[in-house]
Amino acid sequence: MRIVVDLNRCQGYAQCVFLAPNLFELHGEEALLYNPEVPEDQLEHVQRAAAACPVQAVLVGEEASTVVQ
Ligand code: SF4
Repeated sequence: MRIVVDLNRCQGYAQCVFLAPNLFELHGEEALLYNPEVPEDQLEHVQRAAAACPVQAVLVGEEASTVVQ
């Protein structure tokens, strides 16, 4: 499963980092690093992270494929 984080929307709230620490990492205040290829066993975590993001910046699966980066 692929994900994309819309870094223009991301405000560094770090909800995703708490919910899926294997996939998201915050460097400093606002620099979010993430793994765009989500392993099967992390799917549940990433879906929770996407749901928890206050600005809906985490796009999963179909949503991610509509974003051109
Ligand atoms: S929860 Fe959303 S706004 Fe916060 S760091 Fe993650 S992607 Fe960015």
